[in-house]
Amino acid sequence: MSASLTNTFDDKNSETSTLTNPTLVLNCGSSSIKYALISDDNATRITGLAENLGLDTARIKHTTLNGEKLEISIPGGNHKFALQKILELLEQYHFIAVGHRVVHGGREYSEAVRVDDHVLDEVKRLKVLAPLHNPAHALGIEAVQAIYPDIPQVVVFDTAFHQTMPPVAFRYPLPKNLYEEHKIRRYGFHGTSHAYVSERASDITDASGTHGWLTAHLGNGCSATAVYDGKSLDTSMGLTPLEGLMMGTRSGDVDPSLHIHLKRQLGMSLEDIDTMLNKESGLLGISGLSNDLRTVEQAAKEGHKDAQLAIEMFCYRVGKYLASLSCALPEFTGIVFTGGIGENSVSTRTRILEVMRHFGIKVDADKNANLVGGNEGSFHSSDSSLELWVIPTDEEGRIAQETREALHLV
Ligand code: ADP
Repeated sequence: MSASLTNTFDDKNSETSTLTNPTLVLNCGSSSIKYALISDDNATRITGLAENLGLDTARIKHTTLNGEKLEISIPGGNHKFALQKILELLEQYHFIAVGHRVVHGGREYSEAVRVDDHVLDEVKRLKVLAPLHNPAHALGIEAVQAIYPDIPQVVVFDTAFHQTMPPVAFRYPLPKNLYEEHKIRRYGFHGTSHAYVSERASDITDASGTHGWLTAHLGNGCSATAVYDGKSLDTSMGLTPLEGLMMGTRSGDVDPSLHIHLKRQLGMSLEDIDTMLNKESGLLGISGLSNDLRTVEQAAKEGHKDAQLAIEMFCYRVGKYLASLSCALPEFTGIVFTGGIGENSVSTRTRILEVMRHFGIKVDADKNANLVGGNEGSFHSSDSSLELWVIPTDEEGRIAQETREALHLV
């Protein structure tokens, strides 16, 4: 394997000094690695993405401190090779800690923890609950350990924020031993995003008292959470990230008897059904076109009936879930939209709120229309019963912050 640059690379410039005491945030997925080098005030960042790992088209897309974009091809490069290259690119900035996004922390972890042998073993063991993600996270931790054994590493779990849910929300109505012996329960995911946007909403609202938010993280993966007084009280994703809302390629909720029905009627294997529900359903399955809402929206505008239905179903299911999650909140201050869809699709936000027509919500259409492309703000009118916010998520910034806190660097 060799790396070749398709752009001139010179990141050694005078701006280096503005990236003080940076933390490296790594999100190692099954075929990609997202990274961000973040200064101690969260203000300055270098970001990048290694994608198509293991394939001929493997490459690193890197944005330097001064905004220059580079593409480095690493044909056939695997996780370890890509990480070595990423660490080489960032070495000159002398990062002081590494924070890893880890999808599943089981019920062991309710906050970020410093990596030691036990923690690494747990990340690996929890492969049973996150087979695509946790092994890749473990690889990332070990690769950094091998190159920089003295740099402290922290794991920030997607599930941790939801550990405050009460049993009434996290237990499934199943025989007790499945929970007690096999840890079958709702865990919830996207925790860093729900934590970040709900905290931010509480910081910027004018509402006094204790705040109750419904946070809708709508991206390729979608989930909604009820957050009261900074604590997750219920969420739509479950034992795995398949439960809940309709997503890009994931079905979200279906009848649990679907598996046995498809096995009996169509002779499908459990693996085939799992693949179908995770990779071939959602916006892609209904529209028959794409998992990307932009493509589906364009087709719907041109009269494509299945695309129109996909959007209608997506919005109906989000609205229905938000309405039901409101039952978890002692007080309901408002709704926060985030994720690629939540931050950008004005019409999706409008339709979702139309589904919730009994809540006395009043949208300011002009404000709503301006909240795109990373803008933050509210879009309820003054006579609305609930506040409405768009808050661009910052999972990397939150992971960097939690990493510094876990290492007592703040
Ligand atoms: P991920 O879950 O992979 O991080 P994102 O949060 O980036 O995903 O969200 C991806 C989704 O956001 C895609 O469905 C994409 O179509 C949608 N999206 C991004 N920009 C827009 C836009 N301007 N209008 C509508 N949808 C958008």
